[in-house]
Amino acid sequence: MAREVSVVIVGGGPSGLATSACLNRLSIPNIVLEKDECLAPLWRKRTYDRLKLHLAKRFCNLPHMPFPSDAPTFVPRVQFMRYLDDYVSRFKISIRYNRTVETAAMLEGTGKWKVVVKDTSSDAYEVYVSEFVVVASGENSEGCIPELNGLEEYEGEYMHCNRYVNGREWYNKNVLVVGAGNSGMEIAFDLFNWGANTSIVVRSPVHVLTKEMVMVGMHLGKYVGVEMVDRLMIVLSKLKYGDMSKYGLRRPKEGPFFVKAARGRAPTIDVGCVHQIKAGKVFPAISSIKTNKVIEFEDGRQDQFDVIIFATGYRSTALNWLKDYKELFNEDGKPKRKYPNHWKGENGIYCAGFSSRGLEGISYDAQKIADDIAMALAPNNFTAAIGTYPLLND
Ligand SMILES: Cc1cc2nc3c(=O)[nH]c(=O)nc-3n(C[C@H](O)[C@H](O)[C@H](O)COP(=O)(O)OP(=O)(O)OC[C@H]3O[C@@H](n4cnc5c(N)ncnc54)[C@H](O)[C@@H]3O)c2cc1C
Repeated sequence: MAREVSVVIVGGGPSGLATSACLNRLSIPNIVLEKDECLAPLWRKRTYDRLKLHLAKRFCNLPHMPFPSDAPTFVPRVQFMRYLDDYVSRFKISIRYNRTVETAAMLEGTGKWKVVVKDTSSDAYEVYVSEFVVVASGENSEGCIPELNGLEEYEGEYMHCNRYVNGREWYNKNVLVVGAGNSGMEIAFDLFNWGANTSIVVRSPVHVLTKEMVMVGMHLGKYVGVEMVDRLMIVLSKLKYGDMSKYGLRRPKEGPFFVKAARGRAPTIDVGCVHQIKAGKVFPAISSIKTNKVIEFEDGRQDQFDVIIFATGYRSTALNWLKDYKELFNEDGKPKRKYPNHWKGENGIYCAGFSSRGLEGISYDAQKIADDIAMALAPNNFTAAIGTYPLLND
């Protein structure tokens, strides 16, 4: 038998939790369906031990609950998990675990959504009927590994960075990290510290900044234009790191905050890796993988590696289950509408966490979605309704 609920939220990561909390504050019934056995499994199971939030805590709050004042500026992974647990208790968020959404489609002629869900703990199926569906299944659902000539036959070990925990096993081993984004650079640094002989593949130009520079840039960005912020960031980066091109790290022509806003590519935040890179090896893109664990690079150099870790990005899997997606997403699974209007489709479909703006973007989406649903349910009472719910330590 189908279960009726106003809002089905697909995904129990930060986006799903934030949206549910905002809806609960407006007394709008909702349910979060999470395919894993725990909330925020990305943070529990698929991130490395040494991870801290890359951005300062004031840019990573979920709605209506700031981090505690004694939390460090850059919150460690475990503390972030605690924060999410507290968030769920505080806003009485209702989550069903082990629920994989297999399809969500419009029910013809009703204006409602039919969501078919597999309970993976029992293999039973459940059906939910709702007026609204929120896609909160993540931009980072699945790790991408590029197709490389010879990879299938590679005699060493390889993995996506979402399986990397720490480098304990690889003391004195030759490890190649592919990708110079935040995960790649931080994992490379971690491997250096665990005693692995670490090299890194840097394919494209990249901005490298410290956490503190990014924090200053984000604060400043509230008051001045992106051009001014970028000019300052580049001066600071040059003062700190000098010319890094001789180490294989080239700066893009456009500034870091411009690139982030225009293409969603964040600057790489250096946690110590640049210092190690100056003493280590940087390679351009891989051209092929040969026998005996030998890897050849585009500049013709070859070297032998025991392990390859691909920090080569993620993709969303929402289009695998969301059948009527065309009002919300393009064929590539990215929102059809541009930020700041990306979160809403037609016919009661929304997405949270798809603007490449991290937790700050998630917070924005969640509040917009909840307010919009409240408006759709009771257009005349909306302002009055908000007024009647207590503000929880905003
Ligand atoms: C390593 C790393 C570090 C990051 N650090 C920061 C940072 O410091 N600051 C910042 O602002 N942002 C950061 N981000 C970006 C972003 O904030 C996080 O990725 C965040 O977890 C995104 O939350 P989400 O809920 O949108 O997606 P996710 O956390 O991916 O949650 C989506 C959930 O949906 C579930 N799901 C997927 N498909 C289905 C389905 N069919 N049925 C049911 N459930 C489903 C998944 O199991 C998952 O739990 C980081 C990202 C990564 C990968």
